[in-house]
Amino acid sequence: MSLFSAVEMAPRDPILGLNEAYNADPRPTKVNLGVGVYFTDEGKIPLLRAVQEAEKARLAAAPPRGYLPMEGIAAYDQAVQGLLFGKDSPLLAEGRVVTAQSLGGTGALKIGADFLKRLYPDAKVAISDPSWENHRALFESANFEVITYPYYDAPTHGVKFDAMLEALRGYAPNTIIVLHACCHNPTGVDLTVDQWKQVAAVCGERKLVPFLDLAYQGFADGIEPDGAAVRVFVESGQSFFIASSFSKSFSLYGERVGALSIVTGAKDESARVLSQIKRVIRTNYSNPPTHGGSVVASVLNSPELRAMWEEELAGMRDRIKEMRHALVDKLAAKGVKQDFSFVKAQRGMFSYSGLNAQQVERLREEHGIYAVSTGRICVAALNTRNIDAVVNAIAAVL
Ligand code: PMP
Repeated sequence: MSLFSAVEMAPRDPILGLNEAYNADPRPTKVNLGVGVYFTDEGKIPLLRAVQEAEKARLAAAPPRGYLPMEGIAAYDQAVQGLLFGKDSPLLAEGRVVTAQSLGGTGALKIGADFLKRLYPDAKVAISDPSWENHRALFESANFEVITYPYYDAPTHGVKFDAMLEALRGYAPNTIIVLHACCHNPTGVDLTVDQWKQVAAVCGERKLVPFLDLAYQGFADGIEPDGAAVRVFVESGQSFFIASSFSKSFSLYGERVGALSIVTGAKDESARVLSQIKRVIRTNYSNPPTHGGSVVASVLNSPELRAMWEEELAGMRDRIKEMRHALVDKLAAKGVKQDFSFVKAQRGMFSYSGLNAQQVERLREEHGIYAVSTGRICVAALNTRNIDAVVNAIAAVL
């Protein structure tokens, strides 16, 4: 009898599983629109110039690699706060923000989840319907019951906003509400600023716990406009959580650079909250790694590198928009009757294309084009070389 004879096979992650199938596909014309990664027009993951400059300087300085504090690099945490709230924000002067460097956005969500489980052990977590697959799994693995609030409205390619608000109004106090601050994954459909104000008001009235997931800042309209949801919650005066990720905006996926920020009611609360966050970190992985955090801090804290980064980020954003337009226009030019124009208005890397599971399967089987069975495609993986193949394949399976 082996130690592991009773171990069952865990379900495959739907998106990473798709990658494995893609990698095993011998067809040279295959296209992977499954995974959420930005590729250049040449089909490569970019290493941003701003990152390269910061890395060169770091290599030349040859810093020792001692342990970081549990909450990470101070200059990094401050830079993240500046990015989220503006460096002159009264919140920062009042000591009302706690920030800890984390292992990507995922790590930020997990630290926050573990802390919240200690604070509100009986609370439920509400995620959007649909949401990023890992939201449910992650909060369930922190022992929360996860429920969904209405979000995507397939017929209008919009948001079921009234139903969403009504669901929020019905939740018990301390229910944790996970909100995509911009570039909703998987749908590409975001709330307007006015809708954010209404959501923040209900969260405040009902004493809900807003947890903003900000994994794509800079991919919709720019760093500043994409932070609008954060500012709306700041203005509402309530406490809330933000999980930041720099995986996409710095193209540093594998370096695991993110941050958890918590807006508290007062400075003394911040000290107590930080002590608990440090405890969660200490008992999970002790402290974060140095490289990615120091590179991001160098870029954000140097006016020159920051300007370079913003320009490169704008380049990524614009290229995605070009691909949205090209996809819609080329489908129409091909004589496709189905209306895809909504794809132009969606934001961020993803599009809920409206393709059904059967069409997605045919795309894969017959054309070597890989998309998620829900019809989610990563527009950031389209380029001038593969788009015609993708358009022809979509036209063929409709
Ligand atoms: N939240 C959302 C909505 C995401 O799409 C992702 C990345 N796919 C993350 C969080 C996690 O980001 P990271 O890779 O930095 O952990």
